[in-house]
Amino acid sequence: MEAQLEAALDAWNDLSPTPLRECPVCGKVGLPERIQQHKCTIQFLEEENSGIQ
Ligand SMILES: [Zn+2]
Repeated sequence: MEAQLEAALDAWNDLSPTPLRECPVCGKVGLPERIQQHKCTIQFLEEENSGIQ
């Protein structure tokens, strides 16, 4: 029954209303909240470089 398949797809869409976001710096993909709070590996590298100099 196609009607049941459509209902299942609608239910799946309801479970994932928030689109995943990709960090423009390191490319990490996850929830927008996670991406805003995560620490980029590139930032760590910059800190290490500044510490060496
Ligand atoms: Zn990042």
